[in-house]
Amino acid sequence: MERPIMSDSVMRMINAMSSPENRRGDVIKLIETYTPDVARDLGLTSMSFDVDIPLTPGARGSGMKTSGVMFDNGGEKAAEYIARFETVNGGHIEVKATSAVEDPEQRRAFETLSALIFALCGKINSVTDLDTLSVTDGLTNAMNMSGLRRKLVPLIESGQLKEHVSLFLNIKNFKYINQKIGMPNGDKILKEFVKRFKKLFGEREGYIARLGADNFVVAIKSEQVSELSELMKSFRVTITGKEGDAEIKVYFRCGLYYMTEDSTFDEMMNCCSCAYAYARSGKADFVEYEPYMMEDEHRTKKVLVTFPEAIQAREFRVYYQPKVRSSDNKLVGAEALCRWISDGRVIPPMQFIPVLERFGNINRLDLYVVDTVARDMREWLDKGIEPVRVSLNISRRDLSVPDLAGKIDDIVNSYDIPHELIEIELTETYTTDELPMMLKLINELKDLGYKISIDDFGSGYSTLTMLKTIHADIIKLDRAFIKDMKDSSTEDGIILRNVVHMVNELDIEVIAEGVEKAEQVSFLSGIGCDVIQGYYYDKPLPREEFDLRLSDREWYSKR
Ligand code: C2E
Ligand code: CA
Ligand code: CA
Repeated sequence: MERPIMSDSVMRMINAMSSPENRRGDVIKLIETYTPDVARDLGLTSMSFDVDIPLTPGARGSGMKTSGVMFDNGGEKAAEYIARFETVNGGHIEVKATSAVEDPEQRRAFETLSALIFALCGKINSVTDLDTLSVTDGLTNAMNMSGLRRKLVPLIESGQLKEHVSLFLNIKNFKYINQKIGMPNGDKILKEFVKRFKKLFGEREGYIARLGADNFVVAIKSEQVSELSELMKSFRVTITGKEGDAEIKVYFRCGLYYMTEDSTFDEMMNCCSCAYAYARSGKADFVEYEPYMMEDEHRTKKVLVTFPEAIQAREFRVYYQPKVRSSDNKLVGAEALCRWISDGRVIPPMQFIPVLERFGNINRLDLYVVDTVARDMREWLDKGIEPVRVSLNISRRDLSVPDLAGKIDDIVNSYDIPHELIEIELTETYTTDELPMMLKLINELKDLGYKISIDDFGSGYSTLTMLKTIHADIIKLDRAFIKDMKDSSTEDGIILRNVVHMVNELDIEVIAEGVEKAEQVSFLSGIGCDVIQGYYYDKPLPREEFDLRLSDREWYSKR
């Protein structure tokens, strides 16, 4: 009997099975659907399949499995055809068929078809494995970023998540935990978390993805936030170490974003990670997203992107705030304070300095200010204007810069400026890690002949011990100290009077900053602090205006 191997139905079956969309689950259905037509076209009386292809190790889901008779027209079964194929991982496909008569053409058609089905099943199996691997986090079996996107985008678009909340989660000090208990135990914590999350929220209501390291994004129904927060609050993992079992308490930090009808997937990701960035900056452990956070983030990005060009274009200006001795109204010094002039607008330092500190660029700015001040001083000296000592702010973040004292010194020397005209302000707050670096810097600078002042004195906690540890030349009393005090009988007044007394006894100069009122000036001079910096005398002045104060030393007496 003449039988075309590629009958129409065979072509249809092969076409359907070749679709790139097919995954494991589709294959069995396609075999079931097409087998009867194909078997009829080939003139067979019955056809059955035994498919058992296990998963590739590491992949997720279940393998490919089916067995049974898929076609039987009740005809005679005088001839039997069998085709069996083995897969590399121990699986197989076995196809059996019967016919009323043995027919070599028919056998050849059957065998060719079976081989094609086997090849296509193998291909689909691998594609499915790759597919699950590409959307799954190998360590925890949570979704990965692509998995989360693939899963949530359709749900968000069809409005199914408008009552959900998304959270960006991170484990506090995970790096430290890892160092302490070892990576495998660290991994155990991550796996445990996903396991317990899944147990609590199941696959349907809660979605969890690991974005790498200890960063997770989850989406759950808004009303279940308290359950999740319970899970996190009570999260403990038992690990086995050299000294036996130990229980580790894990703390989380997270950013929350409540989805709305209009939220997109990207918005969800941006908003919850933006809220998390706020949490990480030390605001709180749970931070709920608010629109101003995104504005802040944009501002931060703008500062970072425009900073390199701005500094090149010398858009940063140094303003000088006079320091005045109240007993004779003489200008005795100034503090250099930085301003950013962008498109004719003056940007105050609080809008860019914290950003530069956070992202490690502050050192460039501080050295730029050193350079500008030294350059200005050279001009004053060359013009025969007697300069005053100028103090410069050096950020705590600069402490880690190698040979900072040497760098400052090189700049000052390049303009041939006497070192005693330069004062370095350092804030009194430092961590124990920073202290050795701070002491080293102070000693190096002092050895080179620069003055050291402690800025914002009284705003931290370590004030008194610090006076013993750090041999500063000048103490700058914090504005907060001066703001509310009225006379020396109030609590603030008593503290201030005694601090000033002690500082004077230690032979340290003292200056009050943020002084705005005449009463404050007379109170301060009454307790022995007569150098004043503040709006009472002047705001920070642009160079041209400050030049006027330098050239007319009677300025403040004439007011
Ligand atoms: P700071 O070092 O404590 O500087 C004193 C701040 O108090 C200045 O704010 C000054 O304008 C302000 N101020 C002075 N007198 C008064 C007053 O009577 N009343 C009030 N309300 N405020 C007064 P500014 O210039 O905005 O600088 C803020 C902070 O930015 C500075 O605080 C300093 O920490 C930082 N900063 C400024 N320039 C630099 C710089 O070049 N490098 C670094 N690292 N930080 C800088
Ligand atoms: Ca300062
Ligand atoms: Ca200060």
